[in-house]
Amino acid sequence: MGHEVKNQMYGQKIECNHPLYHFKRQVWNSKVDRYPAVIFECKSNEDVIRAVHYANENGLKITVRGGGFHPAGKSVKDKAVLVDLSHMNEVHIDEISKVATVGAGAKTYEVDEITQDYGLAIPLGMVSNIGVSGLALGGGLGYLRGKYGLTCDNVVGVYLVTGEGKLLYVNRLNHSELFWAIRGAGENFGIVTKFELKLHSVDRHILGIDVIYDFKDLQQILIKVEKYRQTAIDEISFNFAISKGNNGQAQLRLIGMYIGELNLWVEREVIQPLLDFATPIVDNTEIVPYIDMQRKFDSLVGNSFAIEGISLFFQELNNEAVQILIEGLKKADFLVNVHLLELHGKVNRISKYDTAFAIRDASYLLVIDADLGDNPIDTKLWVHDMYEKLLPYSYKQVSYLSSSKVSEAVIQNSYKCIKDQLVKLKEEYDPGNLFCSEHRLLDRKR
Ligand SMILES: Cc1cc2nc3c(=O)[nH]c(=O)nc-3n(C[C@H](O)[C@H](O)[C@H](O)COP(=O)(O)OP(=O)(O)OC[C@H]3O[C@@H](n4cnc5c(N)ncnc54)[C@H](O)[C@@H]3O)c2cc1C
Repeated sequence: MGHEVKNQMYGQKIECNHPLYHFKRQVWNSKVDRYPAVIFECKSNEDVIRAVHYANENGLKITVRGGGFHPAGKSVKDKAVLVDLSHMNEVHIDEISKVATVGAGAKTYEVDEITQDYGLAIPLGMVSNIGVSGLALGGGLGYLRGKYGLTCDNVVGVYLVTGEGKLLYVNRLNHSELFWAIRGAGENFGIVTKFELKLHSVDRHILGIDVIYDFKDLQQILIKVEKYRQTAIDEISFNFAISKGNNGQAQLRLIGMYIGELNLWVEREVIQPLLDFATPIVDNTEIVPYIDMQRKFDSLVGNSFAIEGISLFFQELNNEAVQILIEGLKKADFLVNVHLLELHGKVNRISKYDTAFAIRDASYLLVIDADLGDNPIDTKLWVHDMYEKLLPYSYKQVSYLSSSKVSEAVIQNSYKCIKDQLVKLKEEYDPGNLFCSEHRLLDRKR
């Protein structure tokens, strides 16, 4: 009996000869093939603290796995300690305070399913398997961004284990500077074990926008989108998904969500202009369960993919940038997924000083992921070429750090105005540079 209780409270230490080792080191991007020194499967704060002490005693770095969905596979590193939080996924709803406590190993769907039972939701991502941790610590762009901002904007408190193994409660009043930093640059200072996240009323049924246009209409559509975006109401947020298959055909799909009340004015002034961007080939816009809409992209991205990806923010998409995209897609003879997210409303109104997610005045985020399939060298060259050509048109040459691989220069650009503040906090909460992600703040080697 005693043994059973122990197993419940303490997670296992998984070494390379353990049957679960190879399963546990996998991440969504299957081209990432890294071998951690050891994996701590954590079930409690004590387990996490134990993992931190182990890393310190053995001179090892730490990576943390929330959902393992970072496209560059940042949650796993060769010869580092991997802290696996997947068992710490409990979700509790406080209907009175409208705050959910969410274990750091929870996935988007695990939170959505529970919150929607109460007619509530937290702004999360648009694929149901993504970890809440990566979204809350690095940004978090979903369909609620226009009305309620990013996931990180909805964090009201966290429990965090520092590089010295101390458990802290962090919010606006306790460790307030750290609270600012973890909302945007959150992977650098410690291991978050639990989040407190703001809940919002969102009906169980919403208007799901899903329209397929002819790819040749892309340029004219984007001109109309820019006009629409400038006066768009907060209740609506949408993306364009362009898929170019091996068959050479590109499909242009508009996917979005409207979460307000539906009335004649909304239908005429808000929804119809979207459908009129061009003549739709297929229009599947309809009232659907919120949860179904949150899963709409799941089949497209699967549980695993080998990709090379980039992302860039834009303030405008001028003709030159759009032509680069169109010409580039024509040349690609492999599977490519492009996502163009428009940004307006709450996500842009939050001050860049409020959180460490400082890119608040961009109008679009462009993400390009190419399937490495049969011809990885040519595919990587194509992705790199697209990046170089689009970079001059991008906003401040900045990428979404939670997406794809980024260069050192992009990291410097992204953290530009806040770097000194982040480094100061890094020295205070992780002086040993234990949490050394690809987006490193301190260059000291361990
Ligand atoms: C198919 C797909 C779809 C996506 N869709 C969206 C989307 O709709 N919106 C969006 O904003 N992003 C999206 N992304 C990007 C994704 O949300 C981010 O990369 C996010 O970081 C993934 O979260 P995760 O917990 O799964 O990350 P992981 O890969 O587990 O971790 C990401 C980083 O955060 C660190 N980390 C994780 N948990 C913790 C913790 N508890 N404490 C401290 N550090 C931690 C890790 O060490 C790592 O450096 C998508 C990615 C993929 C692959």
